[in-house]
Amino acid sequence: MSTSSRPDTPGSDTASPLAALVAGPVGSGSKRVLVVDDDAGIRDLMRLVLEGAGFEVRLLTGGDEIEQHIAAWTPALILCDVLMPGRDGLTVFSDLQRNPLTRHIPVVLATAKQFPGDQRSALQAGVAGYLVKPFEISTLLDTVRQALSGEKGVRIWGCRGAIATPEHAAGKLGGNTSCVELVLPAYATQGRRRVIFDAGTGIRALGNAIFEAPVRAMLCLTHFHWDHIQGLPFFKPLYQAGNQITICGPAASDAALVQTIREQMGGAFFPISTDAFSSSVLYRGLQEQEFEDGGLRCSTFSVMHPGFTLAYKIEWQGQTIVYCPDNELLPESISQDERGQVILGGEVARLAAWLQGVDILLHDCQYSVEQYRAHTGWGHSSARSLAALVAATGIKQVVLFHHDPDHDDRAVEAIHDEFCFHLAAMAPESAASVRSQLAAEGLFLPL
Ligand SMILES: [Zn+2]
Ligand SMILES: [Zn+2]
Repeated sequence: MSTSSRPDTPGSDTASPLAALVAGPVGSGSKRVLVVDDDAGIRDLMRLVLEGAGFEVRLLTGGDEIEQHIAAWTPALILCDVLMPGRDGLTVFSDLQRNPLTRHIPVVLATAKQFPGDQRSALQAGVAGYLVKPFEISTLLDTVRQALSGEKGVRIWGCRGAIATPEHAAGKLGGNTSCVELVLPAYATQGRRRVIFDAGTGIRALGNAIFEAPVRAMLCLTHFHWDHIQGLPFFKPLYQAGNQITICGPAASDAALVQTIREQMGGAFFPISTDAFSSSVLYRGLQEQEFEDGGLRCSTFSVMHPGFTLAYKIEWQGQTIVYCPDNELLPESISQDERGQVILGGEVARLAAWLQGVDILLHDCQYSVEQYRAHTGWGHSSARSLAALVAATGIKQVVLFHHDPDHDDRAVEAIHDEFCFHLAAMAPESAASVRSQLAAEGLFLPL
């Protein structure tokens, strides 16, 4: 092993100023890949494969002097080993993220398969990709191409309704309560890298996986039922100085939102108050409204659920996602005409209008039709009602959310089957083009 970080590709580049990188995602359109690995065999293999696929490749044996090489060569992507002498790959990534001159460059980290924790941490922190060694040639090329295209999408950290269910932790869907993250390229969101929906128990694992500093996040709370806030006191970035976190939630004013959060962590309910938050926390009380944050267009909608509950719509570069985990689509507002066409009324029709043009909808689907009859008025939807909403709006991707704590994987899958059955009946011509799936912990949906 070598501890130096000299380039071992001959070349005659003259250094260009690092400031040249400020212009934006320098290298977009370029096929320059900077490979950093202390293993000569891996370096040579990567160069062989990548050059064979038309990429330009520069090799480094370590991460210590990577900034100088970035300035000199302006790579479009960095492919970096995690375990190296000197600065390891995670530190390299973290340092590049902190630097406004380099944080737009996508980084793919690589390590051996016996370190799954590294992989989770790196992906959750926002690296553009992850490569497990040993790798197939096709996997290397796919990972590099995908990373160059820029990862963006939705990652689910918890999708259980009502209460966390440790008995389902090993199942396909997981046992944590509501928490979803919208992953967007840092350079495209004015440095606000994380939009987080709800603070159910799933947010604890999200917080533990964040290692960049400072953290800049917007946390959008739909409402204050336990399954949407119980993880908040365990979200570690709140306790780290320098982080900037905006908490949004349904409230008549910013002060009213502060009061609600304080009460959750005060008195007899929790031993540590919000005074322990060392990060900079801004509170934003929301009604039904539109607002802008970090280059994102945001909109809220007051849904049908006990108490004041919001759904969130986020639009970025023509892609729109709606997070609506708790909402009762009332069957009496849904009918079909003589041709079978779905007709919506009341609040369901108003919601459908708000959903026009949405690309991904995450929506409450806690019950089968039969189960719903015993839970009318509880604030959750049946598979048939959600199918009607999807049929009427023409939404092409829907994620069934807020799984009942007493439902195992098979029971939830049966609800999905019921959803598909009703959608096919209500929209026979378009149902096949709708992509529906169950929310599951760890699921990543590309935008
Ligand atoms: Zn809920
Ligand atoms: Zn609720």
